[in-house]
Amino acid sequence: MTFQPSYSTRPTLRVDLDALKANYAALSKLAGAAKIGAAVKADAYGLGAVPVGRALYGAGCRIFFVATAGEGKILRDGIGPNAAIYVLNGPAPRDKGVLLGAKLKPVINSLEQARYWASVADEVNEPPYTAIHIDTGMNRLGLPLEDLTELARDKKLWKSLNPEWVMSHLACAPDASNPMNKTQLERFRKAAAQLPLTPLSLANSAGIYLGKPYHFQMVRPGIALYGGQATTKAEQEVTQPVATLLAPILQVRYIKAGETVGYNGTFTADKDMRIAVVGAGYADGVPVSHSNKGTAIVHDMEAPIIGRVSMDLTILDVTEARLTVETGGVAVFRGSHLESEASIGETLNYELLVRLGQRCRRDYWKPKKEDAR
Ligand SMILES: *Cc1c(COP(=O)(O)O)cnc(C)c1O
Repeated sequence: MTFQPSYSTRPTLRVDLDALKANYAALSKLAGAAKIGAAVKADAYGLGAVPVGRALYGAGCRIFFVATAGEGKILRDGIGPNAAIYVLNGPAPRDKGVLLGAKLKPVINSLEQARYWASVADEVNEPPYTAIHIDTGMNRLGLPLEDLTELARDKKLWKSLNPEWVMSHLACAPDASNPMNKTQLERFRKAAAQLPLTPLSLANSAGIYLGKPYHFQMVRPGIALYGGQATTKAEQEVTQPVATLLAPILQVRYIKAGETVGYNGTFTADKDMRIAVVGAGYADGVPVSHSNKGTAIVHDMEAPIIGRVSMDLTILDVTEARLTVETGGVAVFRGSHLESEASIGETLNYELLVRLGQRCRRDYWKPKKEDAR
């Protein structure tokens, strides 16, 4: 056979920016009057913070959330000066220069962070606005409710921080029937009432589906923008898949009943089989936990992963494929079956997305002119 001109041994992560923008629009509609602050932390869940940020900017997004100052700086350089970029993990002395230089807005998660950032803000001209994060039950980041009174009382501290938003984060939003949602909603309302009047934000992707009382003035979707299922009810969701991993078929082989496949011979053929070796492994985000469990799509057919997933390679059973399977063809991972794959590997769709490797060639579909700065 001859290689097709497009043949490469490297996997491709295809990111559909039109689908991303459609998801942004669909979530905006659902959120009504609330603004959207897009969570683009961890390199936009592995899809590329700058191209994703630019596309969302093109779709009208002007508020972004990253985890660290370094992520914020990369995004700022990519999307220009006109959007607000919040740093969720808060301010640290080491990041002071980057935060101020790139005009990033720290999220204040504790009284310690509040005092530290107030001292920075008091020293500079035009200090950036901040967001105050209060913990309403997740016990992750955010000011404990006990510390709020102190923050509310200290007018000077509040003024130095110059908060633009008061926010909290839901722990159990994917399951609408979990009583924790209402508990957090009530605590959030009460806590906010103690503070000077400030716009509020509570909902992540799943929180948007909990309905209007959870929307306040801004919602903060991440996973739903990227097409991941956010709640336990797929049928209510308004988004479409964005990311697909395409792995090249490197070699097709025929094995006899009784032969084993891959490291440690964890798979034994019970019949003569046709198998395909594809160029994507755990270094590209195909989890080892999918060994002998996961699937990829070859010619519209689910081809089971057989043997242990290797660093750079995965082996598929293509015995049943009706069309020819040959070198240069593709196996498709993720895409519309991100959730079923996540449940196979006992992981999260979030983790699958975010691990889609740095090594993949990223192919952004149909970027439009207006996205570019
Ligand atoms: C990651 C994150 C989000 C987005 O969460 P999704 O579940 O991906 O929508 C929103 N708010 C905070 C504080 C976060 O850390």
